[in-house]
Amino acid sequence: MHGRAIGRLVTAVLAAALLAGCAAPARAPGPTSPTAGPTSPTAGPTRPAATDAYAHLAELQRITDAAGGTRSTPSPGYDAAVDHVAGVLRAAGWDVDTPTYRVAGRTGSGYRNVVAQTRTGDPEHVVMAGAHLDSVPEGPGINDNGSGVASLLQIAEQIGGSPGFPSTVRLAFWGSEEDGLNGSAAYVDGLDRPGRSAIALYVNLDMVASPNAGYFVQGGTGRPKKAGPPGSATVAQVLVDELARVGAVADRTGFDSESDYDAFVTAGIPTGGVLAGDEYDKTTAQAKTWGGRAGKEFDPCYHAACDRLDNVNRTALGRFTAAVDATLRHFAAATTPLL
Ligand code: ZN
Repeated sequence: MHGRAIGRLVTAVLAAALLAGCAAPARAPGPTSPTAGPTSPTAGPTRPAATDAYAHLAELQRITDAAGGTRSTPSPGYDAAVDHVAGVLRAAGWDVDTPTYRVAGRTGSGYRNVVAQTRTGDPEHVVMAGAHLDSVPEGPGINDNGSGVASLLQIAEQIGGSPGFPSTVRLAFWGSEEDGLNGSAAYVDGLDRPGRSAIALYVNLDMVASPNAGYFVQGGTGRPKKAGPPGSATVAQVLVDELARVGAVADRTGFDSESDYDAFVTAGIPTGGVLAGDEYDKTTAQAKTWGGRAGKEFDPCYHAACDRLDNVNRTALGRFTAAVDATLRHFAAATTPLL
């Protein structure tokens, strides 16, 4: 649940590659993780896209199949996914919590988000990213949004739990996105004022491996409500620049109220988002820029049982993973505030 922005696209495709050199300050490369792979921002302007997120996605497919075929909240598949994700993050050295939240009108002991953060960095300056871990009941949700989850798990392994950045990096895996955005809303609602102001920015990942992929970046464009809070344009521009560095020309689009960024936008936190498109058709102009098939959905398996591992675009997954990784490093490694 998130996609209508695609139907209201900013039609002009930015010449991101041309803008990249002048629109943003030089990247602060930051400490290099000992496990940093080809997505390291120090690897040069044309570094190849990572593909390791695909292994995380394959594991998520296996876990979801073994637990009933869906990760809707609540379900055995969702619980299994929470435990799995928490385990991967702990093994990568991150400090991990699974805070519970309640949904109005529901019985039960509550549901779990997964929140992980680095053991180093200023806790009052947090660079944050998140992806919803649940799926719709109809299927395993491998593009929507196993892809965002797999991307963040790969980034967690590449950055490691003690990267030594000046800022803390925090990653969230949300429940109940497909059920009223309740996981992320409860998390933001539960923060006190200092807790909210500590979050310097939030980057949302929701569907980053659509088979007929597009490269959309949300934030800082369109009417004020769609552009997000001040600072969102800066976050979005770094995402655009980093996508350009891995060969993807991004299209800027606005926020709606259809994914987990909504609570952060509403709270006034600078926000960016990435997505590869959902049930809307790719236009002729978009197919010219990005390849793929004009007049066909970005994801024909959107919210359907066929949203499985064989439905995903590994190139898009790798590019978005690399771009988000570099964006988080850019802001977390900065020694002076960038927003
Ligand atoms: Zn989604």
